[in-house]
Amino acid sequence: MASVRVAVRLRPMNRREKDLTAKNIIEIKGDKTTITNLRIPDGISGDSMRERRKTFTYDFSYDSADSKSNTFVSQEKVFKDLGSDVLKAAFQGYNACIFAYGQTGSGKSYTMMGNPGDAGLIPRICEGLFSRIAGMTRWDEASFRTEVSYLEIYNERVRDLLRRKSTETYNLRVREHPKDGPYVEDLSKHLVQNYHDVEELMEAGNINRTTAATGMNDTSSRSHAIFTINFTQAKFDAEMPCETISQIHLVDLAGSERADATCATGVRLKEGGNINKSLVTLGNVISALADLSQDGVNTNLKKKQVFVPYRDSVLTWLLKDSLGGNSKTIMIATISPADVNYGETLSTLRYANRAKNIINKPTINEDFNV
Ligand code: ADP
Ligand code: MG
Repeated sequence: MASVRVAVRLRPMNRREKDLTAKNIIEIKGDKTTITNLRIPDGISGDSMRERRKTFTYDFSYDSADSKSNTFVSQEKVFKDLGSDVLKAAFQGYNACIFAYGQTGSGKSYTMMGNPGDAGLIPRICEGLFSRIAGMTRWDEASFRTEVSYLEIYNERVRDLLRRKSTETYNLRVREHPKDGPYVEDLSKHLVQNYHDVEELMEAGNINRTTAATGMNDTSSRSHAIFTINFTQAKFDAEMPCETISQIHLVDLAGSERADATCATGVRLKEGGNINKSLVTLGNVISALADLSQDGVNTNLKKKQVFVPYRDSVLTWLLKDSLGGNSKTIMIATISPADVNYGETLSTLRYANRAKNIINKPTINEDFNV
């Protein structure tokens, strides 16, 4: 049993926010993140203080707002904390998952993929995987096989980002294997021997993603991207051939402003597709799982009545194991420091707070019948 671990990451003020002379409303101190509602006057009574300032605690708190500050958290540090853990889990034979949640422009892609010369978690994890393998084979009898795939979910359709012929890549089917769980039928898997191989595929996939985005009105804020590493280790355990297989999902979610039907503006309401079904369902799944674990703590009464709606969306069905199942999972909530984003930021902090309650059941995926 292991809880989903939750991180929060604060990005710097961007140009637009600076031009609006936005005020900084987020304070990260130790493991506490405090958000201030500047619309509520700074009163003296306890009640208005509680309304004005809300504090949350997460497993990891990353202040990346100011690179000159001595508490600044770099890409390297995020990898050292979270990426290394994922690598460790993979070598032990566990499944792992990291997903980035937050409004558009809050730093999800920066955290997961990064910028040229400022790599994020995905490239660093892949690099780390191969450097660990290189360091191991000298003394270990194991052999390794690494395959990657990269897909996008847009409007509940799955698209392969690593297939050249784009006509075949739309609308792949999600199916469920009785033992291995949900998977995407016909999704291309690419055997990679070194980091350079991965780098080429990642680049091709990212270009594929952004090309579609310019043609189709900002797809990247509406789509979910899942980069998956399938890592197999073959070894002999007490003379028996044995394989451990781990699957690592690295997920860059659609902008969270697409999650909440109640806060949709007039512009968004005109376009039905703007409310993202996968994102809404992800919220419902997280809530149901949080309720389940709360029941587990308090009483077993309601346990059987809580239904987890994995099958209601493509995203949650595919990530079923990562949410409440067989996986070590981390959620990173990315936020803006600016008062103009108060509403979205508060909702991200609350969402992340709920995710802390999810209990997973990671097990080592060992197979002796190889
Ligand atoms: P999202 O994927 O959530 O829409 P991005 O990751 O694209 O947001 O971030 C928006 C912009 O802010 C990008 O230009 C990105 O480089 C920058 N940015 C985001 N987070 C950070 C950070 N922690 N440090 C520096 N720049 C950041
Ligand atoms: Mg993005």
